[in-house]
Amino acid sequence: MSHNNENILEIEDLGVSFDGFKAVDGFNFYLARNHIHVIIGPNGAGKTTVLDLICGKTNATSGSIKFHGKEMRGKREYRIVRAGIGRKFQNPSIYENLTVFENLELSHPTGRGVLGCLLFRRTAEILNQCNSVAEQIGLSDRLDTEAGILSHGQKQWLEIGMLLMQNPEVIMLDEPVAGMSVRERTATAELIRRIAKNRSVIVIEHDMEFVREIADRVTVMHLGKILSEGSMDKVSQDPKVIDVYIGH
Ligand code: ADP
Ligand code: MG
Repeated sequence: MSHNNENILEIEDLGVSFDGFKAVDGFNFYLARNHIHVIIGPNGAGKTTVLDLICGKTNATSGSIKFHGKEMRGKREYRIVRAGIGRKFQNPSIYENLTVFENLELSHPTGRGVLGCLLFRRTAEILNQCNSVAEQIGLSDRLDTEAGILSHGQKQWLEIGMLLMQNPEVIMLDEPVAGMSVRERTATAELIRRIAKNRSVIVIEHDMEFVREIADRVTVMHLGKILSEGSMDKVSQDPKVIDVYIGH
């Protein structure tokens, strides 16, 4: 696997043990700029743990995580977020009693209620960003809707929007289409492709049809290790991958 400037994130020999159990072991991962890189694998393969390691929620026991060539391993979660790596968890953490607009607004890194002479300019800037993000997540006509009454899919999109408000260079999504209708899945695939035009996206997903729709590159994990990597066509024809999926 090559190392070059096109890789925004370079992960090498990443590992973590929980009481001697290696949940992730010798994990190498190169995320290209503006790519959608999907991680698949059976339950318990270590996919979510990889995201926990990248975002600093879990400390690695070996390896390195380089973002723009800078070591991220060992940094605190908030620093990793500030550096430009955003992560969406499986359950939405939106404010149900606030509107879509308010949820987006409070996710802006400068926060609200900025005092002094910058107030007007900041507010206009935040307003523009809320509108632009709402467009990207397909909720432009729902800005005044209370988040609590959105559909399951719309809530997931809102949370992606809340991440986008911080304009991260890398977004990580853990099973973004779980529980969604077919129509919502299609819309989510389009949404992910839209947001990947100027950032890189790591997606964990089970739904192979969905993966085929979005993936520029696929990494298959099994028992904490990488089983296969490459294009969707390549990995889906890999006998090792077929074995694992038919075996489950
Ligand atoms: P996946 O997301 O691929 O389904 P996970 O990354 O959630 O898998 O889990 C991989 C393995 O690591 C599982 O066996 C899980 O029980 C274990 N594991 C994950 N996090 C912890 C933790 N904090 N402490 C102990 N074991 C963990
Ligand atoms: Mg998981």
